[in-house]
Amino acid sequence: MTVAMEGHSYTARCFCGEVELKVGGTPLFVGYCHCQSCRTWLGAPVHAVTLWQTQDVEVTKGASLLKTFIKMPRSHRQHCTNCGGAVMNAHPLEGEDMIDVMASLLIAFPFEPTMHVHYQERIIDMRDGLPKYAELPEEWGGNGQLLAE
Ligand SMILES: [Zn+2]
Ligand SMILES: [Zn+2]
Repeated sequence: MTVAMEGHSYTARCFCGEVELKVGGTPLFVGYCHCQSCRTWLGAPVHAVTLWQTQDVEVTKGASLLKTFIKMPRSHRQHCTNCGGAVMNAHPLEGEDMIDVMASLLIAFPFEPTMHVHYQERIIDMRDGLPKYAELPEEWGGNGQLLAE
């Protein structure tokens, strides 16, 4: 698959640098996920998300090093088998053809979060004035409930 290079494109590189992605177009979502799955997979208190259409993400180096771990059908989490670093999380179900690329791996990407999701599962508070969904917005199939900071 070749990424159409309309507008900006960004490179993402894993911890060791042996896996590289090229990401183009406009992200579908930029924000934070506080769910336990993300936290325990990443070993981090919060997950910085950039969500892209699958067609806009291309593995340009080290594809054979990527391993996919599927704990739940809607999340195909991929890491680099050389360094163990998390790289991306594909959501391949019908109507959800998108890939979450770890924001921290994107080089020179202007990270501008718009909301927090799964905030009810948080282990740290983030008082940044952004909307905080207990789980997910209604348009994503969630209950739309917002929590105070
Ligand atoms: Zn690596
Ligand atoms: Zn999550």
